[in-house]
Amino acid sequence: MQSYPSIDALVHRALQHVDDWEDSWGAFDRHPSLGVAPDRLDDALDEYLERLEGNYPFHHPRYAGQMLKPPHPIAVAAYVAAQRINPNNHALDGGPPTSQMEQEVVTDLADMLGLPAPTLGHLTGGGTVANLEALWVARELHPDRALAVSADAHYTHGRMSDVLNLDVVEVPTDARGRLRLDALQQTLEAEPIGTLVLTAGTTGLGTVDPIADAVSLCDSHEVRVHVDAAYGGFFRLMTLDAAPPLDGFPDEHFEAIQRADSVAIDPHKHGLQPYGCGCILFRDPAVGRFYQHDSPYTYFTSEELHLGEISLECSRAGAAAGALWCTLRALPLAPDDGVGPILAACLRAARTWAEEIERSDALTLLAPPETDIVAYFPTPETPRLSAVEDASRTLFDRAMNDPDAPIARTRDARRSVG
Ligand SMILES: *Cc1c(COP(=O)(O)O)cnc(C)c1O
Repeated sequence: MQSYPSIDALVHRALQHVDDWEDSWGAFDRHPSLGVAPDRLDDALDEYLERLEGNYPFHHPRYAGQMLKPPHPIAVAAYVAAQRINPNNHALDGGPPTSQMEQEVVTDLADMLGLPAPTLGHLTGGGTVANLEALWVARELHPDRALAVSADAHYTHGRMSDVLNLDVVEVPTDARGRLRLDALQQTLEAEPIGTLVLTAGTTGLGTVDPIADAVSLCDSHEVRVHVDAAYGGFFRLMTLDAAPPLDGFPDEHFEAIQRADSVAIDPHKHGLQPYGCGCILFRDPAVGRFYQHDSPYTYFTSEELHLGEISLECSRAGAAAGALWCTLRALPLAPDDGVGPILAACLRAARTWAEEIERSDALTLLAPPETDIVAYFPTPETPRLSAVEDASRTLFDRAMNDPDAPIARTRDARRSVG
């Protein structure tokens, strides 16, 4: 029998364990400067907790606004326990157990994506930093060549290329937001490209670039490939034999991620984690040479490679690695167990909703969803773009002000705060 775990019970158990561990050291005093006046503490906490009610009810079944959800209770309990200790995964001495766990989950993610071992990888603060590292390595390998990016890729690629002073060539997309192979072919013939960025699950439409074909094209031009799978990477599980059958799912393109030179994937998107958990993976561990630096004040307990020696960020929450590790042990990366059925439910929901929209006169579906993002617009009375915009605004306002929506309480709380 499976049941949704009680967050209270899990957090209590986790914190109790850390308490007991601390008790085993024997009693010690805290410095008096850490004390707080009880009234002020009460007031601060009261106001803080009340202000949090100004959030939207992200985990209510009727919330469908953003690609945003609360972490799984297991991740919360695991995070809180490690956060109390506050290990830093920059150096092995900063957090030995969570550094080890980070290496284990990074291997799990690489295996899920089918990348051949050994890969080089580590967790990051999020997808932006993961992509930045991929683009930085792309520049180090090909300083004189440009980066090719599909027009529908996340804006981070343009921005990070600016930071890195990398030339960017934009490759046009088709009507459904997928990179156009004919345009890619032209670009590869006309320009000196070092690395192509493809997206597995675009942030806007959830579409998947034709990765399998694009990688083959790049191979023949000796161009590297980075796949931004920050959003969609976990859906790779849906291509495995034990996954539920899904008509029209872009299996071959998810499978082709394994041919990429680098991949970014965000456990804080579909991996049930709190924010602050991205991951970058490189096919060739030798790119680790670009990260080389000395840090005599942090690397002294071990001859082993410290995570800080293969990442651009310095301090990183060991709690993020711990939470992911514990979550993936309880909910494995399998197509028919753990994370898989959650992803399958997301895909089914998107498809069911898309079918409803297609049956409706009031709404128009932009394109059948390839992952779990549904793009649609209210059918306008006149076929003008401004009419679509007006109708969208009206629909949004009505949904936001629906008196029966779970958001009504939040809205009242906002009003009373002013
Ligand atoms: C979310 C996202 C990013 C940015 O990642 P953050 O974790 O928000 O920094 C990059 N690319 C894609 C495709 C994304 O969905």
